[in-house]
Amino acid sequence: MSSLDLRRLHQLHLIDAAITEIKNRAAALDPGRKIQASLQQVQAQLDESSERLRALQGEQSDLELKQKGIDAKLQKTDKEIYGGSVVNAREVENLEKEIANLKRQRGEIDERLLELWEVIPPTQKEVGDLEAQRAKLKQDLAVHQKKVMQEKEQLEAAFRQRQQERPAALAQVPKPLLVRYDAIRQKAAGIGMADVVRNGFCGSCGTHLPEKLIESAREGRVVTCESCHRILYLSEGLI
Ligand SMILES: [Zn+2]
Repeated sequence: MSSLDLRRLHQLHLIDAAITEIKNRAAALDPGRKIQASLQQVQAQLDESSERLRALQGEQSDLELKQKGIDAKLQKTDKEIYGGSVVNAREVENLEKEIANLKRQRGEIDERLLELWEVIPPTQKEVGDLEAQRAKLKQDLAVHQKKVMQEKEQLEAAFRQRQQERPAALAQVPKPLLVRYDAIRQKAAGIGMADVVRNGFCGSCGTHLPEKLIESAREGRVVTCESCHRILYLSEGLI
């Protein structure tokens, strides 16, 4: 192998490294998991509050209906007693008992309705606040998803471009070198080559490289990092 072959392999490596980077970035794109989790949480709270509000309002209308019924009965009984249609003392006594009973029931209903009138408005506010929170999160999610979609499109365009560049770069590399490079790539997270950085370190894993190894790389020999096993490359500035 010669320095030229290594330079050509390095061109291919740059494309492959870019493709790997694009793939990693695409895999790391977040479709909005955090916002979706918050949204689910708010939705659960909203379901719970709405259910509670519905129950309270249901109880309120039931009681109001009962209240009307009792009032009607009271009116009717009053008429019976004071309208002169009932004259029998025992009947009057029974009716008076009934009136007392109805008034007691009405008192209980009034008490509970007062409680409900206290509890319902804050519950309505709670539901309203949660609905507003949900609307805000939905909006945030839409904005986030649009951004992610744009990023995805950019990554796809970059990926297509790199894929188009690859065959020409590939054709320049001698077969045996390519076979070795591919084998390393498979074992080393898709990256088959490492730059030697200025002070004699592997640019990929950071291991300090023996001078002998750097010397060999400088002569155009195919040498690999002892630690990450990638083919070492000295850029022209370092030769
Ligand atoms: Zn290394």
